[in-house]
Amino acid sequence: MKTKILVANRGEIAIRLIRAIQELNYEAVAVYETPDKESRHIRIADEAVWLGDGPRCDYLDIAKIITVAKKTGAVAIHPGYGFLAENPDFAKACENNDIIFIGPSSTVITNLGNKVIARQIMADAGIPMVPGSDNLAHGDEGVEAALAFGEKYKYPIMLKATCGGGGRGIRRIENAAQMKEEIPIARSEAKAAFNDDRVYLEKVVIEPKHVEVQIMADKDGKTVHLGTRDCSIQRRNQKLIEIAPSMIDNKELLDTICDTAVKAAKAANYFNAGTVEFLIDKDFNYYFMEINTRVQVEHTVTEMITGIDIVRTQIKLALGKPLSFSQDDIQMRGYAIEMRINAEDPKADFMPEGGKTVSVYRSPGGYGVRLDGFVYQGFTIPEVYDSLLVKMTVHGFSWNETVDRLRRCLKNFVISGPKTTIPFYLNITAEPDFLAGNFDTSYLDKHPELFSYDDNVDEANKLANLIAEIHKKGHNPYAA
Ligand code: ADP
Ligand code: ADP
Ligand code: MG
Repeated sequence: MKTKILVANRGEIAIRLIRAIQELNYEAVAVYETPDKESRHIRIADEAVWLGDGPRCDYLDIAKIITVAKKTGAVAIHPGYGFLAENPDFAKACENNDIIFIGPSSTVITNLGNKVIARQIMADAGIPMVPGSDNLAHGDEGVEAALAFGEKYKYPIMLKATCGGGGRGIRRIENAAQMKEEIPIARSEAKAAFNDDRVYLEKVVIEPKHVEVQIMADKDGKTVHLGTRDCSIQRRNQKLIEIAPSMIDNKELLDTICDTAVKAAKAANYFNAGTVEFLIDKDFNYYFMEINTRVQVEHTVTEMITGIDIVRTQIKLALGKPLSFSQDDIQMRGYAIEMRINAEDPKADFMPEGGKTVSVYRSPGGYGVRLDGFVYQGFTIPEVYDSLLVKMTVHGFSWNETVDRLRRCLKNFVISGPKTTIPFYLNITAEPDFLAGNFDTSYLDKHPELFSYDDNVDEANKLANLIAEIHKKGHNPYAA
């Protein structure tokens, strides 16, 4: 019997994982909730098991997923990103049931999922970071400690959920009054989102670049890095565009950050693939931010410049194989840019456009273009999940070539039905600061002009809409 691996996820990442599993000549078991019953991950898997009506609760149901793994005979589970990927109870349940969890141990996930503990481990290892507080105590005591912290380190101060993720649970606090006001709100939001109401403080790095390092480690502790990614272009502390490698013109700094990331991974006894995130200020100071204990959405840009299949490697490492390459074997070539094409209206503060049907879908292709998506013409986007439709990753030899390719692809990408981030991204590919590699996490705030475009002028879109109408009506309604 073939080795089976269960994919505990949905959307584009489920498809990415299934492809890697099938390339390894293993079988992929997909799971799904009712709103996903038409999704492509079910069709391409070797086997698919319905979990329940959902939404979002069955993909998070540890007991159910473990039961499915046992019933189908899966030896391992890949959690992807989101859902149970960084849930230490899930990794623990796998460990207890002799199922291989494709990721680090539950202990590592517990430690690194808690930003305060992670910071402590990294501080002990001598890794640089911004000043931060302990978890704030409940009630007046916590508020007083927070005000003292603000006094000492000067505002603005970041108020962060200790167990936060996905850019949620982060607030910038400008003064003492706001601090008093927002601590209880932050707490209750953290409780609702992460089932944990702990919050802590960090000094704010002003207009930083977000630079992260991809790490790979095997069971023997051999640890390598696959270089940097710049994920500074964000909305609401969430990434939109990712670039490998970082455009910072300071090779020494980038080398130091990569070495620091390996040191950080070792300090945490890290195993499998992970990402060490840093913030970099205008004076090229770098600060540890967190470690994500899973495959990242943006892993594709690193794959494009290194040629290393990160998911394939994750699976092999989890099955006990050693890393087959050393640091010196890893070569980086050119640039890669990923754009997250979301069903969102950038003009309406990126409001999700779920519930709409993709009436026309025509994707670009050609040299240096990679698409990781799951939608197709006629697919109705479930409203209950995130709005990512497809990730477009382009690779080029130079920065200019890569941006030129990206622009060509965006111009040719037709998605009719929901509004998407495509026209907004097209503006970015013509924006001088972007072209010059000059961006940090304040990029969107500084460029309101990116939000002006006409949704309806795109010729290709018009054409696509027409074809959709002809298709639906059986004749061309505009023909004489
Ligand atoms: P998450 O776990 O949600 O990814 P992070 O701690 O990685 O949270 O922070 C997400 C983003 O929030 C960063 O990329 C950055 O834009 C912003 N951010 C977080 N902490 C700080 C800080 N101390 N100073 C400035 N920006 C910050
Ligand atoms: P495979 O899965 O092809 O049998 P490995 O387990 O050795 O190979 O490697 C996992 C990933 O790392 C694959 O994407 C492979 O192409 C890549 N890789 C392997 N060896 C090297 C090397 N020396 N330099 C760069 N990439 C490598
Ligand atoms: Mg982060």
